[in-house]
Amino acid sequence: MADFDFDLFVIGVGSGGVRAARMCAQYGARVATAEEKYMGGTCVNVGCIPKKLFVYASHYHEDQNEAAGYGWELGSAEFNWPRLVENKDKEINRLNQIYKGMLDQSGVTHFEGRARLIDAHRIQVGDQLVSADKILIATGGRPTVQDIPGQEHLITSDDAFYLKSLPRRILILGGGYIAVEFAGIFAGLGVETTLAYRGELFLRHFDDDVRRMVRDELDKKNIKLHFQSCVASVSQQLDATFVATYEDGRQVETDLILAATGRRPAVADLGLDKVKVALRDNGAIIIDDQFRTSESNIFALGDVTDRVQLTPVAIKEAMCFASSQFGGVDSKMDYEDIATAVFCQPNIGTVGLTEAEARSKFSDVRIYLSKFRPLKHTLSGSSEQSLMKLIVDNESDIVVGIHMVGADAGEIIQGMAIAIKAGVTKTVFDSTVGIHPTAAEEFVTMRQPVVSAAG
Ligand code: NDP
Repeated sequence: MADFDFDLFVIGVGSGGVRAARMCAQYGARVATAEEKYMGGTCVNVGCIPKKLFVYASHYHEDQNEAAGYGWELGSAEFNWPRLVENKDKEINRLNQIYKGMLDQSGVTHFEGRARLIDAHRIQVGDQLVSADKILIATGGRPTVQDIPGQEHLITSDDAFYLKSLPRRILILGGGYIAVEFAGIFAGLGVETTLAYRGELFLRHFDDDVRRMVRDELDKKNIKLHFQSCVASVSQQLDATFVATYEDGRQVETDLILAATGRRPAVADLGLDKVKVALRDNGAIIIDDQFRTSESNIFALGDVTDRVQLTPVAIKEAMCFASSQFGGVDSKMDYEDIATAVFCQPNIGTVGLTEAEARSKFSDVRIYLSKFRPLKHTLSGSSEQSLMKLIVDNESDIVVGIHMVGADAGEIIQGMAIAIKAGVTKTVFDSTVGIHPTAAEEFVTMRQPVVSAAG
């Protein structure tokens, strides 16, 4: 080990890279990191954090309208997009400094610049050449755009965080997390929003009741939903607006087009051709359950491996990596029952199996479903509804899926995820006293299974 400059060199200081670097350093390893862009990676700079701030921003208009039912006369409201972006940037800058400080305090040596592998133990960053016993690739992913005529007119979620002004109209392509979240953000900020998805119904990997509920709720917010609509080309008109043409010839005129059609592992120009790191067809680095690539001293984790593209997953993977490689405790990542939230409006919170997955895994399942108008909206005038769904394996009584659409679903599902991890049964739900009046109490008061369409 002593022959190398460092015990570990981490390429990329996003959520996974920073956690791995800090923990390995705490275990006594001599650690270096390299980053060419910004501290904190996608989550801090062009992902979870600014997205959630924008979601908050987009909600105030609705809140103001709803306040009237509660007796508030608030007058007219003005929204200032540049101020939001400026304030968001200030906060992100603060977080960048915190990330830098965390690395410094952990004794990690940080290199600014693009890191490229020279061979399995040597890394070039700018004009510096360093060596490391182990290398960890945590470079994350980048948004993709479709390969269609006019693709140069498409922006991605990275760009959406830095728009100089808000468009009057936006067309969002895709039907995953980013598409529905940005649809809610732009619609809430007063932009005429259209979402175009290539399939019958968006949010493909989510429970069908959740998907239908979100469709209905976005519809109520006047978001135009174009399903079975795959954009084949985009052209710019003389007045700088755009026309998107679907495969069947239908056209949409708009001022901005956001492609939210997935993200690819960031593996370009890393020098991977100099080492034996095997990739999947989509560029994802292939790793074993110890995050080891096919080059035995090179490891990878987080979005660059395209397992589960979620910040907390990358962080947990980083902790497993650090503990196994430098902490002396063999530790494996558990990918079962990972809870997730989609910050569309209202939010989705989900953990465990969808009804379709449960039906294919278990011979008999019970479904509990509740759709209701939240107490807040009895006076607010909003027609927004909430949905809660429990999926139970009938034989064992174990709850195998919990789903929610509604305000604060992400907050509520976090606790449910602990219960699922603990192997909770429906009987335990039934014996739990609710908190009144909350939406969450509905989870412990659903007594009667429903006959589901899929059942
Ligand atoms: P997703 O993989 O979630 O969704 C991509 C969407 O684009 C799908 O609806 C997909 O359709 C569609 N699509 C893919 N290729 C094409 C194409 N060539 N033409 C038309 N449509 C296409 O990706 P996102 O970009 O939304 O997000 C990336 C990941 O980042 C997410 O999977 C998630 O893990 C993470 N993320 C998490 C968030 C959170 O935790 N709240 C927020 C944002 C992102 P189809 O379903 O038919 O394949």
